[in-house]
Amino acid sequence: MPINTIFPTAEDELSWQEGALCAQAGPEFFFPAPGSSTREAKQLCGACEGRVACLEYALTHDERFGVWGGLSEKERLRLRHAPR
Ligand code: SF4
Repeated sequence: MPINTIFPTAEDELSWQEGALCAQAGPEFFFPAPGSSTREAKQLCGACEGRVACLEYALTHDERFGVWGGLSEKERLRLRHAPR
């Protein structure tokens, strides 16, 4: 087992960003103004192969703003506080 499987490096942790579809859209798309729709960003996330890793990263790093892994700020907050 490679050592970076046991102790993932920051580079490994961010490898999902290489295929990130949001890189092709502007930041305002994924960080919309309060009250604006997140529907289009979520649609793009739905087609992104890094979606699960992206969401895990956002939850692990307590990302508070924007759409990550197809979930809005409120949806991630609900997920964090959901009973396990
Ligand atoms: S899941 Fe969405 S926010 Fe995450 S990398 Fe893919 S397109 Fe970007």
